[in-house]
Amino acid sequence: MKRIGAHVSAGGGVENAPLNAQAIGANAFALFTKNQRQWKAKPLSAESIAAFRENLDRVGIAPRHVLPHDSYLINLGHPEPEALAKSRDAFLDEMHRCQQLGLRLLNFHPGSHLKKISEEQSLALVAESINLALEQSEGVCAVIENTAGQGSNLGYRFEHLAAIIEQVTDKSRVGVCLDTCHTFVAGYDLRTPEACRETFAEFERIVGFDYLRGMHLNDSKPELGARVDRHHSLGMGCIGWGAFEYIMNDPRFDEIPMVLETIDDTLWAQEIEQLYALQRP
Ligand SMILES: [Zn+2]
Ligand SMILES: [Zn+2]
Repeated sequence: MKRIGAHVSAGGGVENAPLNAQAIGANAFALFTKNQRQWKAKPLSAESIAAFRENLDRVGIAPRHVLPHDSYLINLGHPEPEALAKSRDAFLDEMHRCQQLGLRLLNFHPGSHLKKISEEQSLALVAESINLALEQSEGVCAVIENTAGQGSNLGYRFEHLAAIIEQVTDKSRVGVCLDTCHTFVAGYDLRTPEACRETFAEFERIVGFDYLRGMHLNDSKPELGARVDRHHSLGMGCIGWGAFEYIMNDPRFDEIPMVLETIDDTLWAQEIEQLYALQRP
């Protein structure tokens, strides 16, 4: 079945996230396990960890349907050694927080070359960063998100995701998350069933659905290929409902967390309902 949710607030403690997910009728969710705009965070308390696990159980969402997102400050492909080391430390801390919460996935943007090294060199650093994190953690899969390709951000081509995966040693603990907005503004069309067929066939050819561990369901304010990251509520942007109808009826998207990051959180409950209503019997 399809597991739909949203990136919910963990305000007041991570243990509130499962309850916030339940309140909008979600069967999956994303969260930040720390403040996403700060480098340092207090370790999770034993009470908070226990309450999170209890609440997750109570709302009936499986740990594999939770897709935590790391801090926006982290750049695992950073061209400068000191800044790279800082990012790697912070990423490992994020992996450990997921592990403590009993979660299986950690979603992150691959990184940026900052125009100081080539894409290939930066992608190799990202892969090395993942290898280091996997060696020092257990049970959590590093989930690389495709990006809009704004500025010097890596990950806007499926080839980038494939190049990282190729250089990761433990292939069982690396995967990808496709963001529909990012996919579209990166130049992969999703506006018709035929375009969806082609885009996902391309994804299958270059990366492979075996690696797909999650989705971000967002419509897009910018046009196809704009390389600008601006999400919109479903059906209100340049992608339209067709792409989401396609995804809701394609079994390759079963049993992975599919998470809204749309701009109006007051619509989330309704968007989740509308998505499920698109499923044909
Ligand atoms: Zn996203
Ligand atoms: Zn985005």
